[in-house]
Amino acid sequence: MLDLAGMPKAELHLHLEASVEWRVVKEALQRHTGNDFPESPHWLEPDFRFASWDDFRQLFRDYIGPWVSAPTGYAELIPAIGDMLIAQNIRYAEVNVGLNVFARSNVDTATVLDLLAMEADRAAGLGTVIRWIGGVNREEGIEVTAGWIDEVLESPVISGFDLHGTEPGWPADMFADVFVPVLEAGKKLKMHAGEMAGPEYIRAAVEVGSTQIGHGTAAIQDPGTIEMLRDRDIVVEVCPTSNERLRNIPNYGEHPICEMEEGGVKITLNSDDALFFGPDLTGEMARMVTERGTTASTLARWMSNAIEVAIIEEEERSRFLSDLDAWLAAQGESPDQSDVCSAT
Ligand SMILES: [Zn+2]
Repeated sequence: MLDLAGMPKAELHLHLEASVEWRVVKEALQRHTGNDFPESPHWLEPDFRFASWDDFRQLFRDYIGPWVSAPTGYAELIPAIGDMLIAQNIRYAEVNVGLNVFARSNVDTATVLDLLAMEADRAAGLGTVIRWIGGVNREEGIEVTAGWIDEVLESPVISGFDLHGTEPGWPADMFADVFVPVLEAGKKLKMHAGEMAGPEYIRAAVEVGSTQIGHGTAAIQDPGTIEMLRDRDIVVEVCPTSNERLRNIPNYGEHPICEMEEGGVKITLNSDDALFFGPDLTGEMARMVTERGTTASTLARWMSNAIEVAIIEEEERSRFLSDLDAWLAAQGESPDQSDVCSAT
C-alpha cells in the first residue's frame, strides 16, 4: 500500500467555490438558511454522472451562491479551503477564485482579496503555499472579462488568471487582447481548454500565451496538438474524475492521461471540484492506483511536474523535491514498476 496521505503534494487545478467537503457546505447552509440538507447528496454516489454541463452548473447556483452571498460566506469558505489543503499535505496549490462570483454574490472585491491574503499567510505558516488565480468566465464576454482583469491585476494577492466556463463558441483567441496586460504584468496565464471542445481550442489557448492547460483531454485527437504541448513545454492539469462525471471521456479506465504522457506532454493530477465530483487530490491518486495501476514513481513525476511551474523560491522547490524523493524511496517500489503510468 502506498502512503498517499503522507505524500508531499502539489495541485494546480482546483476551484475555491467547489473543493471543500459537502459536510462543511451543509453545515454552513444550515446555519445561514435554517433548512436541512441531506447527509450525502445524490451527486456523490459513485456511479453518478451529470446529465449536462448546465446540470453541474446548477449545483453552484443552488449550494454555493447562497453561502457566498451570506455576509460571512467568504470568511467561512476561504479558511475551509486552506484546512482541506493542509490536511492532505498539499504543500503548493493554485486555487482558482471565480471573479464573476463576486459580482453575482454582491460582495466587495477588496474585502475578499483581504480574506484571501490572510488565508495565504495562515497556510504558509503551516507549510502550505497557496497561490490565488483569478478565474474569468468565457461566457461573461470580452468586456466583462477585461473589467475583472483590470480590477485585480495590480493586487499582489492574485498570482495569475485562468479562463474557464463554457468552452464551445468561446475560443481563447477571442480574448487575446484582454490577456495582454496579464502577460505584460508577468503574471501566470492558464486556461481550461480541450475539456468540452476540440484540440483547436487548446492550440488557441497556447497561442494566446497560456502556459498551463486545464484538462486538455481533446489533445489526444490530434498528434499536432500533442506535439505543440510537448515542444512548448506546456503543463497540462489533468482532472480524470471531473472528466468522467461530466461525461467528457467514456469512463475512467479510458482517460487518455497515459497516452498524453507517452506523447511527451507534462502531466499533473488534479481534483478540479471535489465537492461535486467526489475525490480530493489524495482520492484521485487512490483511484489512479487502484483503477489504472499507476505506480508511486508516476505519481511522484506528476507532482514534480506541478512543482516545476510553482510560483515559489528555488529553495522551496528543492525542499519539496527532496521530500518527494524521500517519500518515493520509502514506498519500496521495484525498479521495473517505476515507469508504469497505467497498467490497463
Ligand atoms: Zn476547472
